[in-house]
Amino acid sequence: MRDRKGESMQYRPFGKTGVLVSALGFGAMRLPMTTDGQHVDEEQAIPVIHRAFELGVNLVDTAPYYCKRESEIIVGKALRDWPHPIYLSTKNPIEDGSGANWRTRLEQSLRKLDRDYVDFYHMWGISWKTYEERVSVPDGPLEAAQRAKAEGLIKHMSFSFHDTPDALVRIIDSGNFETMLVQYNLLDRKNEAAIHHAHANGLGVAIMGPVGGGRLGLASPEFELLLPGRVSTPALALRFVLAHPGVSMALSGMSTMAMVEENVAVASQAGSLSADDLIRVKTAMEENQRLAELYCTGCEYCMPCPNDVNIPKNFEYMNLFRAYGLEQAARDLYGQLGKEGTWVKGLPASACVECGECEPKCPQDIPIMKQLKATAEALA
Ligand code: SF4
Ligand code: SF4
Repeated sequence: MRDRKGESMQYRPFGKTGVLVSALGFGAMRLPMTTDGQHVDEEQAIPVIHRAFELGVNLVDTAPYYCKRESEIIVGKALRDWPHPIYLSTKNPIEDGSGANWRTRLEQSLRKLDRDYVDFYHMWGISWKTYEERVSVPDGPLEAAQRAKAEGLIKHMSFSFHDTPDALVRIIDSGNFETMLVQYNLLDRKNEAAIHHAHANGLGVAIMGPVGGGRLGLASPEFELLLPGRVSTPALALRFVLAHPGVSMALSGMSTMAMVEENVAVASQAGSLSADDLIRVKTAMEENQRLAELYCTGCEYCMPCPNDVNIPKNFEYMNLFRAYGLEQAARDLYGQLGKEGTWVKGLPASACVECGECEPKCPQDIPIMKQLKATAEALA
């Protein structure tokens, strides 16, 4: 498949699964919605997914709860209407340690997808604690998954993950999984070594959040000047992720044709980042991180605030602006604090009543009240 600039989509081995995946995967978590936001706009969503397939994307990733629980249904329809084979990835939320319940959820997903099997089936968002207490227990999800694989309902066992890098290595070393889906991006490189470890152990690695949950989706002059030729911030972010030798695929949640085409063009650039580019980018990011940590390390010792201000989150967003030049992303994220239905708990800096309780607890001696005031002024 060729993109609009005539470059070919890259395909990479997905660990030892024997599957070659496109460097860009379609994340079906941000499908276009109807104007009331209650349903996926099928008329728009399916052509966007098909455009990605047309440009060489060969894997689509969904999950039962995405897009008001309609993502799996739409993905199933998009796959049915497409004449060529596409790999399907979805996930099972580990709600308890019951293999029978896990199996019920698998069957529900297969019904919604209208498929006989899933190519890459994930234990969804597990930690080491979940793995030990709910996944690898007698008659639990792991045993149920092994049975489902023997029956052909699952082709490959996968997991997605939210925990420390040490825990990630332990789950890789369990030897029970063939691919993993983890967070990694320019602003969050904590899984970098564990990704090398997974690759060395034959696991396929897919990356979620390559543009930092939207933080790197908007322009930053600092990022754009890092490489000769002014690469856009999201393009740089994607190229950075794909430059990791252990990464097979970056999953990007795409809502529009333009996003699909831009991401495909980046994933199709054969050279990705040169060794020199990579050193320049890593050095700049380490300097930015050092700068950010001068302001706040995110240790949370100052919490909880009796007035429910999320102090570290406010400073994290201020740092995006101050240390990384991601002004619009910082403002957007700040604007979400305190709103109903957002994942991040707690209030924005403007809710600080200057009681002074937090300041003595900060090991960095940050003048928290003054900095919160500056944050509110800069980002509100
Ligand atoms: S000074 Fe502000 S942020 Fe600190 S504890 Fe009081 S209300 Fe919360
Ligand atoms: S204690 Fe200080 S460094 Fe730690 S999160 Fe709070 S403000 Fe940041």
